[in-house]
Amino acid sequence: MSSLKAVLFDLDDTLIDWSGFKADWAAVEHKHLSGVFNYLCANIHQLPDLDAYIAEVRSRMMGAWTSARMNLRAPNLGTILVEAAAALGAPAESLDARRCLESYAWEAVAGTVGFPDAAETLKLLAQHGVKVGIVTNAHQPMWLRDVELRTHGLFDFFPTCRISAADVGYLKPHPAIFQAALNCTGTNPSETVFVGDDPEADIVGAQAAGLLAVLRRSRRGTGNLSRIVPDEVIDSLAELPAILDGWYPGWRNGA
Ligand SMILES: [Mg+2]
Repeated sequence: MSSLKAVLFDLDDTLIDWSGFKADWAAVEHKHLSGVFNYLCANIHQLPDLDAYIAEVRSRMMGAWTSARMNLRAPNLGTILVEAAAALGAPAESLDARRCLESYAWEAVAGTVGFPDAAETLKLLAQHGVKVGIVTNAHQPMWLRDVELRTHGLFDFFPTCRISAADVGYLKPHPAIFQAALNCTGTNPSETVFVGDDPEADIVGAQAAGLLAVLRRSRRGTGNLSRIVPDEVIDSLAELPAILDGWYPGWRNGA
């Protein structure tokens, strides 16, 4: 019988609640891409016009997500911002993904909040020496998503293991991203539990990597659960400690 050493969490709709996000995603994106466009025009190359740049980014992003559905290679926002600028005539050797991402000026999206049930459970896990980590299918590198974690008061709970697909190169459910997280926590699959809201990415992926997988039912709706059997299902992170009691008796005493 293994002991509990780590719990890994998906980010969106597991730790961050997106159910209050009602705005138009295109409008949110437009604001950030305008920042990149302005940076590029002022510092690198006069691009034809903002709409052309945004269209180029969107078409590349859509292409990257379409092929990702087949091969699970993670789209990378920095790469796409650079390639779109190069396609519109900016000299490739002057383009820097980091600078483009800085001018993207990512921030917590209006309407999103940290789930109020997260802090207490995360505190309890830390108190009992259980490591925690984040594994997200984001196309942004983790340092951008860290901005949101800080805004939502979640950052301090995850001092070391925050894993974005954009950094690893693979999306959940690919085993490589789960392995990257296990390398970070330094734990074995049997000592590690995964919590997420996406049946395919989180539950199928974690189980295939040998982890017990808890489905957090999302208020935004849970995807297709046919043929997918989570090890447990919760509606609140407050339910997690009791599930861990059942799987790892004595974990609260370091067993
Ligand atoms: Mg999610």
